[in-house]
Amino acid sequence: MWDVAIIGAGLTGLTCAQQLAAAGQKVCVLDKSRGLGGRMATRRIGHLRVDHGLRYWQPATEGLQSLTAELLSAGILKQWPVSAYEIRQREVIVPIAPGPIYTAPEGMSAIGKYLARDLSADQILTSYRAVALNYHNGHWEIHCEGRQTVVAKCCAIAIPAPQAAALLSTRLTDDDDDEIETIDPMPTLPAIAQLRAVEYWPCLTVIAGYERDRDFDMGPLDPNGWMVSDFAGTSTYWVGLDSSKRDAVSGPVLVIHSKAPLAQQYIDAQDLQPAASVLLRANARKLCEWIAQPEWFQIHRWRYAQVRVPHRADLLVIKDSLISGGDWCIPPVEEAVEGTTAAGDKANTTARQNIDYAYLSGLAMAKALQNASE
Ligand SMILES: Cc1cc2nc3c(=O)[nH]c(=O)nc-3n(C[C@H](O)[C@H](O)[C@H](O)COP(=O)(O)OP(=O)(O)OC[C@H]3O[C@@H](n4cnc5c(N)ncnc54)[C@H](O)[C@@H]3O)c2cc1C
Repeated sequence: MWDVAIIGAGLTGLTCAQQLAAAGQKVCVLDKSRGLGGRMATRRIGHLRVDHGLRYWQPATEGLQSLTAELLSAGILKQWPVSAYEIRQREVIVPIAPGPIYTAPEGMSAIGKYLARDLSADQILTSYRAVALNYHNGHWEIHCEGRQTVVAKCCAIAIPAPQAAALLSTRLTDDDDDEIETIDPMPTLPAIAQLRAVEYWPCLTVIAGYERDRDFDMGPLDPNGWMVSDFAGTSTYWVGLDSSKRDAVSGPVLVIHSKAPLAQQYIDAQDLQPAASVLLRANARKLCEWIAQPEWFQIHRWRYAQVRVPHRADLLVIKDSLISGGDWCIPPVEEAVEGTTAAGDKANTTARQNIDYAYLSGLAMAKALQNASE
């Protein structure tokens, strides 16, 4: 039996796992996907790698700064010398100075693999989708799709809150479809309400590739690397030249993230092509004409992209041995943070990012479980 089973192998779950394993606990991490990293996601398209989730790594808190320094010295991260712009009212394109920004040459999912480096293969259970939990004889049974069951003394749920609420609300049934006696529902009911109160923005992400042997006029944008946040339009939230993150082995590859209303409109649609066309055409009009005519493109749907309504604490304790956390855990008082960047520069890092909250929540979860086991 495991000391702790962690559901979700994103930044939160892997941070928690790493801390607990280092403290000598017998941990396993299970994830419904085939890979690690969660929304630190990289898609392989032929010989290309494209980051279609987390856009870049920009730590604001001290804890994440030291992990960043570690990731830089391990060669997982490097600085991305990208030129940043904003589209403001009347579609004016303004260069901005966002401070040091890091990216992973092998793709953002490499961060997940790095965090899991001290876990053995049998501690990492990929393609394990947790569908229900049961508390039985002083331990947790995590029932997964396909009827596998993982048993642990403690359980940490490190997935987006709406998915955690669904997991806790699922009632197990037997072969005759009768409900099986599961955890006492009373302690979980208030927790389910708190999890349900958390909301996320959805997002549609277009990955678009262009010919290799052609000159592309980047117009007002830096041909060596650019990213644009669009505050003026209705369709695009952010677009970046993803191919500038790594050595050029292709023509330009763009990643375009939509604003939430466009994603909401298409979130359950079977055909996402019209949404992709809207995004490609809007950026062609505002930035460079050739954007409308990619050689190929793909579109991905994120139901839970970034947090809209958070839970105001760094974790949620459901029972002593059952806790939950993630980027949706944002404690109430947020002071401006002053510090140094991982590269050693002075930084006036005010805005904590989602990755800061995911990381801090992972640490808080590990601490809570260590205290519970003492
Ligand atoms: C398009 C996009 C752009 C972003 N850009 C930025 C940015 O620029 N800066 C920033 O700070 N943040 C950004 N973020 C957010 C950032 O990626 C997340 O805040 C962070 O990665 C969250 O980590 P997490 O571990 O809390 O959750 P996740 O990464 O979502 O990990 C949860 C894991 O749980 C797994 N899971 C879910 N349900 C189950 C289940 N039932 N059983 C088993 N496994 C399950 C999932 O497969 C996933 O791997 C972006 C996100 C998206 C989608």
